Amino acid sequence: MRDVKGQCLCGAVTLTASVDNPILRACHCDMCRRHTSSMFLSLAITEGSLTVDGPAKSYRSSDWAERGFCEICGSTLWYGTVHDGARHPAAGLFENAAGAPLKLEFFEDMTPDGYDLSGNHRKMTTEETIAMFAPSEEGNSQ
Ligand SMILES: [Zn+2]
Repeated sequence: MRDVKGQCLCGAVTLTASVDNPILRACHCDMCRRHTSSMFLSLAITEGSLTVDGPAKSYRSSDWAERGFCEICGSTLWYGTVHDGARHPAAGLFENAAGAPLKLEFFEDMTPDGYDLSGNHRKMTTEETIAMFAPSEEGNSQ
């Protein structure tokens, strides 16, 4: 376990989190693409370890999600889920993206035609991604 520190483009917002063998996750959904202009790359951190200081704002992007940004420079800060208050920080805020390897892509089938991420990692389709995060209503344990 180690602490990693990050900051937005202008430096007004600073972040600290604990990581243990951290990984990167890419999301290609429409909302992440618009929020970042490309894809949202998040750094997997120890749950509940994120602290954010400075002029951070949150935009409620859907019934279940909110997205953090710096009020001054507009940097993307996090993707958050409303029901549990979890926040997944943007990997690019941290030096060398915390040295973490890309391990997972969400909504891989929504990647624009003009690019594709290389590498030997798991790529989840829209159907698989939704199945992973949707509340269980059919009696399965996930
Ligand atoms: Zn800023």
